[in-house]
Formats: sequence, C-alpha cells, structure tokens
Amino acid sequence: MKVNIQTLMDNVQCYATVRELRWPEGRECPFCTSKKVIKRGCDDKEPARQRYECKECGKRFDDLTGTIFVGHHQPLKVWILCLYFMGLNLSNKQISAELELDRTDVQKMTTHFRYDPTNWAGRDSDACQCPPGNHQAIDKIHCVTWNFGLHR
Ligand SMILES: [Zn+2]
Repeated sequence: MKVNIQTLMDNVQCYATVRELRWPEGRECPFCTSKKVIKRGCDDKEPARQRYECKECGKRFDDLTGTIFVGHHQPLKVWILCLYFMGLNLSNKQISAELELDRTDVQKMTTHFRYDPTNWAGRDSDACQCPPGNHQAIDKIHCVTWNFGLHR
C-alpha cells in the first residue's frame, strides 16, 4: 500500500488552525473589523470552512476571505502541505510527487505563495509573528511557514 500524506491530514484541523492564527482574539469582520459576527453555515465543497455575516456592515465572509489561501480549488490541507514542503526546500517536481498533483498545479501554488501580495492570513503585516527583519525578506515563504509553526 502506498501512503499519501494527504490522507493523513485533517482538513477540519487545518481550518481550526487558520482561525486560531488569524483571529487569536475572536472572529472579526475583514471589512470593518467589527466583532459582531455570526455564523452563516458552511462552504458547499469544504464543510470545515465556516461562513460568517457581519452584523455591523452586513457583509459576508468566510475563514479564508482576505487570506493567501482564497480563491483556489485545492482543499486547504493541500495548500498547507505545499507550504510545508516549500519550507523544506522541496522542488515543484518533488512536491507534485508527494501530493500526487499535476506539476502545473503545483507550479501555480508555489508561484502564488511567493508572489501574491495578500497577507498570509488576512492580517496586517505588523501582526506577523516571525522574527524582526524576517518579514522584509524576499522569501515570503519563510514568513508564512513561521506563522504556521512550520519553520525550521
Ligand atoms: Zn463588517
């Protein structure tokens, strides 16, 4: 039997981790920063992805709105694994083998992580918890993986 790392990863836990990192003091509207936020069901494709509505400005958002993970068809756990492997300096080829994904898909993901201007978790860059100076580094992956506790 061939073990695929993806099957060992829990998507629910991935979302819980993103929520914890993103909103350490409770959920907050990414549009108006109000804390008057209510749950509004779950994503159709990813049940672990919680949706919300802001009682202040009326806008809707979910766990990934405004984060570097938004707008892609891969499950969150795949993105996090991809980041993890990038932190270990694996090549696109190696990552695609580990995740059993198409090379071009992996290429898109790694490019996205390197160049997307979106902050890693939708927070202000000042909130980044990686060491001083690190955040300005060209290698943003270092910063992202640090925040996920994946840094080594
Ligand atoms: Zn709001």
